[in-house]
Amino acid sequence: MAFLPLAACNMKVQDFPKVTESLPNTPKMPVLFVGHGSPMNALEDNAFTRSLKKLGEQFKQEGKKPAAILVVSAHWLTRGSHVNIAPKPETIHDFGGFPQALFDAQYPAPGSPELAKETAKLSALIHETDDWGLDHGAWTILMHLFPEADVPVFQLSIDYYQPLQYHLDLAKQLTALREKGVLIIGSGNIVHNLRLSMERLRTGDTRPYDWAVEFDTWAHEKIAGRDFQSLVTYEKAGEAGKLSVPTTDHYIPMLYSLGLAGEKEEIKQAYEEVTLGGISMRTFQVG
Ligand code: ZN
Repeated sequence: MAFLPLAACNMKVQDFPKVTESLPNTPKMPVLFVGHGSPMNALEDNAFTRSLKKLGEQFKQEGKKPAAILVVSAHWLTRGSHVNIAPKPETIHDFGGFPQALFDAQYPAPGSPELAKETAKLSALIHETDDWGLDHGAWTILMHLFPEADVPVFQLSIDYYQPLQYHLDLAKQLTALREKGVLIIGSGNIVHNLRLSMERLRTGDTRPYDWAVEFDTWAHEKIAGRDFQSLVTYEKAGEAGKLSVPTTDHYIPMLYSLGLAGEKEEIKQAYEEVTLGGISMRTFQVG
């Protein structure tokens, strides 16, 4: 993958053209954050997947079918921020130990090289690549949101070597895409402690851990109160934060969704549940 020299990275946001004037403006698209949870949700009919179906149908009814979808998934971690320009992104089965039916699942949506290239123009921090497809953070939820797979999809990676503030700030630079018909989706989980969830699963105990509920509720309050800065410094929230976010991979996509929120835009909760003891499925819509 190519990296820009340091001098280019020091360019300011305003040095870059706004998303190409040649693409028509559309009504501002909403932004989603989806708590994706287990990959098996791709095949399951449950309260969570039904809530995604409902969201997708709602977009259609409101005439908000996106021109393209940009997913920031917990499952594409890189050094540097990369956007996938592949015209036909493959369905990546990036997991193990699941039934064959899940490995057989395909989400054949086309890519959007044009909008992916426009995304790279928005910030010197974003580099083009064709070395990715659609990981399960993207396709397992899109199978319910847009089951026809007829909307082009591309992904932006998470630079895992950057502090949390970087992601909130980079998201703000993507705002113009919303007016080009791009639906941006952060896909992760606000609470994601797989190790302790597996422990509970082994004993057949499905009750949520107290710390998971505590941190999920705390995050919900900060989102509703638009106190995004506290979410960046979540470690200050104490032990519940440390247990809920043992690594930041699933937490970071939420920061992209929040960074894209306009100052007065409504943030609507679409789904909430703590599953498997320590995985929050909280899903919300901005705008
Ligand atoms: Zn995941």
